[in-house]
Amino acid sequence: MTTALRTAAAFDFVPIADEILVGGTWRRATGPAFAVTDPADGETLQIIHQATAEDVDEAVAAGRVAAADPAWRGLLPHERARYLHRIADAIEREASRLALLQSYNTGKTLTETTALVGSAAGTFRYFAAVLETSDDDLTTQRGNYLTMSIHEPIGVIGAIAPWNSPIASDAQKIAPALAAGNAVVLKPAEWTPLVSMALARAIHDTGLPPGLLSVLPGKGSIVGDAIVQHPHVGKVTFTGGTRTGRAVAHAGAEKLMPVSLELGGKSPTIVLDDADIEAAVSGVMYGIFSSTGQSCIAGSRLFVDRSLYEPFMERLVERTRALRIGHGRDPRTQVGPLVHHTHRASVARYVDLARCEGGRVLCGGTAPDDPELAEGAYYLPTVIDGLSNDAAVCQDEIFGPVLIALPFDGESDLLSQANDSVFGLASGIWTRDYRRAWRLARQLEAGTVWVNTYKRFSISTPFGGIKESGLGTEKGRAGIAAYSRQKSVYLGLDDEPDSWAD
Ligand code: NAD
Repeated sequence: MTTALRTAAAFDFVPIADEILVGGTWRRATGPAFAVTDPADGETLQIIHQATAEDVDEAVAAGRVAAADPAWRGLLPHERARYLHRIADAIEREASRLALLQSYNTGKTLTETTALVGSAAGTFRYFAAVLETSDDDLTTQRGNYLTMSIHEPIGVIGAIAPWNSPIASDAQKIAPALAAGNAVVLKPAEWTPLVSMALARAIHDTGLPPGLLSVLPGKGSIVGDAIVQHPHVGKVTFTGGTRTGRAVAHAGAEKLMPVSLELGGKSPTIVLDDADIEAAVSGVMYGIFSSTGQSCIAGSRLFVDRSLYEPFMERLVERTRALRIGHGRDPRTQVGPLVHHTHRASVARYVDLARCEGGRVLCGGTAPDDPELAEGAYYLPTVIDGLSNDAAVCQDEIFGPVLIALPFDGESDLLSQANDSVFGLASGIWTRDYRRAWRLARQLEAGTVWVNTYKRFSISTPFGGIKESGLGTEKGRAGIAAYSRQKSVYLGLDDEPDSWAD
């Protein structure tokens, strides 16, 4: 199947140029070559040279100049919004190519990558609209002066992204940062640079003034660190793991630089005794197994009321076993490969650990035995129970298709287990009783709570984690302000000189 899909013309992999966008110029990066692979078969898709700290220096210097140039800084909001619309148009024109590139590089299904590309275009349009309709404040007058609070650009924004949903996470950072009048230096994840580089090409070709966007693929410890430490980067927006996020926050504290952090999760999905069982089973499956579990908001801990635990688990396992595992370009596929063979090894280690801790693997727990999938980084959707919430697999983020199920007895037991986590990113509740849902939603320690749905996203709704899942929010009308500095201006209205000096 893999070979057939690779050679079908509509799905052919078309390499992109091995060039990075540095300060408005396309050229080869100055670091070592890196093999970007297809997780569906482990084959090298393309060799890309990685950026270095020198490339970061050049990008930041160009970004500073471009952000300060009146040709950008002096634009009125509706004029800047036009650039964002042009970028959205370009993404939509290139949609099928971008979706295919992302599917090759991440293993995700084409259905998912097509949706992610659509969401990226929507993000640019949304922030264009917000930009045109945001007002600065004339604050309440307290003397013979007019007072106002206005927003100004920060300068150069460092944007650091993870590998799981490149184009969507790139757009969520680039769009509001440009809308606020900044320049952006983006670092995609080492394993998945291709779609971000293609996005950079599409954005560059819209005529965005040179220097406003640089895209520098490479290692986190080199390129990411150089961006964070750079004295002329005024804010870093980071999405990734909690450990890396903490290091970014430390570096930000040293520079007294604001950072926003979208980090990991171990989100509880809760099934109450009055839930619509089939809807809950479908929602739980989608919450954990879509994107092959590689989603920060994956509902990776399942809490089911003990009164329906056994029948619910039976149905869940039966339907999980029926999920179609396969190649991302096969339209029948529900669960594609993991992003990389190294990552699959990490997921498999966690399942082995669950076994050692006494967990029962109810389904999955291994790579598929289909010979067609033998070369890919596939791992079967896995359901485990028989553990308590303090087991390592209940506390650590596995970031793969692994669901840990636990029964609960009553709301207080549920809340103490569900909230017993260092993370606080998301949670889900399945019930027919909205009063119970509301009561629980208010007590769950999570940045987002879904009720009778899961993993739905809206750019108009702020998103962020609490506890070790993050700092700050992205999206929503306040999204542009997060990339701005607030300034207060007082306009004196006195006709006479100040009497104090008389
Ligand atoms: P990661 O933390 O390993 O890497 C994230 C990015 O940081 C990459 O670009 C990486 O190269 C870079 N990086 C690594 N070391 C760095 C350093 N010292 N300085 C600066 N940058 C550095 O995360 P990952 O494995 O790429 O992504 C998976 C993680 O991302 C998961 O924990 C997941 O939950 C999280 N995530 C969170 C959200 C959210 O919105 N909360 C969304 C997607 C993914």
